[in-house]
Amino acid sequence: MNEGLGSAGISAVRDGAAFSCRDCAADIDHCHGTLIEHRDALAECTDPQCVSLAGDRHRLVTACAELDDCGCAQPEIEYLTAS
Ligand SMILES: [Zn+2]
Ligand SMILES: [Zn+2]
Ligand SMILES: [Zn+2]
Repeated sequence: MNEGLGSAGISAVRDGAAFSCRDCAADIDHCHGTLIEHRDALAECTDPQCVSLAGDRHRLVTACAELDDCGCAQPEIEYLTAS
């Protein structure tokens, strides 16, 4: 009864960990969300569980100017009010 030897019973591939990265493996504090930097030096992350908005925790950092739905991406025409 040598059944089970060499068959495809090895489940080393963890399907649930499809989104793993080197930082995950190294247990480094990091975030998989995209950090969005706004003009007024504020920042936000697309990951609601993000605990810190430090830029070096994020592999993906984008300026909000590249987003269409951010209000501060629109250039304010302040000089029009100057009289
Ligand atoms: Zn990771
Ligand atoms: Zn913005
Ligand atoms: Zn984050």
